[in-house]
Amino acid sequence: MGTVVEAANKEAPGSALAQKNPKIVFVLGGPGSGKGTQCAKIVEHFGYTHLSAGDLLRAETKSGSENGTMIQNMINDGKIVPSEVTIKLLERAILENENDKFLIDGFPRNEENRAAFEAVTNVEPEFVLFFDCPEEEMEKRLLGRNQGREDDNIDTIRKRFKVFLESSLPVIEYYDSKGKVRKIDAAKPAEEVFETVKALFTPVSDKAAA
Ligand code: UDP
Ligand code: MG
Repeated sequence: MGTVVEAANKEAPGSALAQKNPKIVFVLGGPGSGKGTQCAKIVEHFGYTHLSAGDLLRAETKSGSENGTMIQNMINDGKIVPSEVTIKLLERAILENENDKFLIDGFPRNEENRAAFEAVTNVEPEFVLFFDCPEEEMEKRLLGRNQGREDDNIDTIRKRFKVFLESSLPVIEYYDSKGKVRKIDAAKPAEEVFETVKALFTPVSDKAAA
């Protein structure tokens, strides 16, 4: 588990990802804020490829790789998996895909994730979508959905909320200070939320024409 500096020495600035130079939008928000639901709609309407960091990690636990058990334990405890593991999975998924527009959902989750991604790839997001939703509503959604996820139990949900407040919100604040955050009221029904999202992805020229 290397430091940011070690990771940076391994790649960047001419990393494979920097050469591909994809357009990246980070999609952030608490657990149950609707990131996955809205990403599916953005894919349908705007031709992005959706990469959920959580889904990539869950797939890795099933692949029987050496990190599988470690990842599984961290997810079940609501903890953030070491950056280099997640970044490798994201990089691979981006490079394997012909598309050049990606929604990265659920990453970066802490300042270390963010700094390591920038250091390793030398790629910055175009902007950051932030789904802002009250904890009460997110809890209701997580307990109500049944996706067979082991971490959708009340104990782990509480841990995930705590990690979000303590570790993930600072990432959103960082990008906000750079003017990159597009904050969305995510407490409404999915269709209504998407109306707001849609406006953010529609080029200004198309809006004028419509
Ligand atoms: N996770 C992680 N790093 C990431 C993304 C996810 O460590 O970059 C782990 C973390 O344990 C998290 C879990 O995967 O609680 C589920 O993440 P996901 O984004 O799928 O779900 P969410 O909590 O946003 O509903
Ligand atoms: Mg998700």
